[in-house]
Amino acid sequence: MRYSQSLIPTLKENPAEAEIASHRLLLRAGYIRKLTAGIYSYLPLGLAAIRKVEQIVREEMNRAGAQELLMPMVQPADLWRETGRYEKYGPELLRFQDRHERESCLGPTHEEVITDLARREIRSYRDLPKNLYQIQTKFRDEIRPRFGLMRGREFLMKDGYSFDVDDTRAGETYQLMFDAYKRIFTRCGLDFRPVEADSGSIGGSFSHEFMVLADTGEDTLVICSNCDYAANSEKAAVVPPVTDNSPLLEMEKVETPGKRKVPAVCEFMAIEPSELVKTMVYKADGEPVAILVRGDREVQGVKLKNLLGVADVEMADDKEVYDATGVPTGYLGPVGIPIKLLVDQEVAAMRNFVVGANEKNYHMKNVNMGRDFEAAAVADLRQISPDDPCPSCGSALGLKEGIEVGHVFKLGTGYSEAMNAVFQDQDGKDKPMVMGCYGIGISRIVAAAIEQNHDENGMIFPMPLAPLQVILLNLGLNDEQITETAESLYNDLQDKGIEVLLDDRDERPGFKFKDADLLGIPLRITVGKRLSKDGIVELRHRSNGATEELAPEQIVSRISELIEEAMSNKTIS
Ligand SMILES: [Zn+2]
Repeated sequence: MRYSQSLIPTLKENPAEAEIASHRLLLRAGYIRKLTAGIYSYLPLGLAAIRKVEQIVREEMNRAGAQELLMPMVQPADLWRETGRYEKYGPELLRFQDRHERESCLGPTHEEVITDLARREIRSYRDLPKNLYQIQTKFRDEIRPRFGLMRGREFLMKDGYSFDVDDTRAGETYQLMFDAYKRIFTRCGLDFRPVEADSGSIGGSFSHEFMVLADTGEDTLVICSNCDYAANSEKAAVVPPVTDNSPLLEMEKVETPGKRKVPAVCEFMAIEPSELVKTMVYKADGEPVAILVRGDREVQGVKLKNLLGVADVEMADDKEVYDATGVPTGYLGPVGIPIKLLVDQEVAAMRNFVVGANEKNYHMKNVNMGRDFEAAAVADLRQISPDDPCPSCGSALGLKEGIEVGHVFKLGTGYSEAMNAVFQDQDGKDKPMVMGCYGIGISRIVAAAIEQNHDENGMIFPMPLAPLQVILLNLGLNDEQITETAESLYNDLQDKGIEVLLDDRDERPGFKFKDADLLGIPLRITVGKRLSKDGIVELRHRSNGATEELAPEQIVSRISELIEEAMSNKTIS
């Protein structure tokens, strides 16, 4: 590829809208361009990096026995109604009507379409198992698309679906995919961790996310310092506390004038936040519900959502709290509260705590569950903290940020039962197929790789994902010897199947060096003045800045060697 003929529109300045490195660098290096909110064009280098990811994913999926197909992006609403998701999915599902007023949606995921295919084409246990995947553009109407390719509305995804005769076989397929995912992310050259995860709107009983560790990750991971336990903090189970068996003291109303927030109440009453209980109000699919958590804890929305089995939970604002309870903000408490009350397990184990008195300027002390109020349910409803012990071994936990790049789910028979996707088993009976589903964010992997590999000058692609392996700088367009050498190296490298970008633009050396660093191509060859003086061309490694001086005739074999090494080594960049 000749730079002079390529569309690689690099920018000198950092684009103002870009908050994180991958977004900023993908725009600056001319890999992507924004069309509209959360929707991007992949320019030639961006697409080349994406194709590298796709290739690795295809190879490993095929090797694990999966087959590629391609399903439509436009899906009929009626299919989604069969599983109830047309209503339940929320506004991220883009719904529209065609000219015949048939309701449709743009596929954010394809469980319904693949299950429809399976129920039509799979008849007998002899037709199973089947493991099918596609690589396709998805659309999710995110309320706040941001971070470039990290959280777009339109994005490229690999989604796969498996069908098995029973749970045991489905478990084996799940493990097969889990192992394939480990190979995929290892081959991509990423530092990642599989973690236990919440199943979200896909549903199902069990799932793991594959997280790329990076400071800009949107997810918080809980990782044990001692054992293998790792989980998304949305899912991480808190170890139940030991019940306090102190004698119950008499409940007492205390005047707390103007003290509405936890720190103010604690200071005024000379207590610790751990002795106070907050009454938080959420809207669960619009219905108000109160949750009690200790003063120094936070409600975990995903746990709440799962407990209630609702599609959406959102914290209520002051007016909504007042409308639902008649109590002004800051003084709400569980004693006599008129809405449904859920209690975090930690609060259920506490004795003689402080709560709001459901009256302006008053709190209650020595309040106890069971004697003073009843809970509709007691459950693990709070966000895990770094002080909590590992739920698996009891050791200390650490928190890390992560970017979700893959997700594997055990779906069970939820979809196949809802859509009557059955097969005839050996005993002649119809049984629902047992499903799994497996996603990989193809475009997001490119962004995650950049988050993990960049410096102040630009991107540093791991060799397996680099859009090109070599950038070759001609620093003497008017010098016959330099140009001849650069051109012949360009041809020789291409003859060897090496992917090379020849910078043949009429620009200053400094300008070319800057662009080369920005683009993040792993190896740079400079053909310049040193050639006529010393017969030398320079080879530079983007990852660590190391340089080698070589005769032109040594270049092709040295580059071949480096590429081979980088592609066989799991982590080298
Ligand atoms: Zn542990």
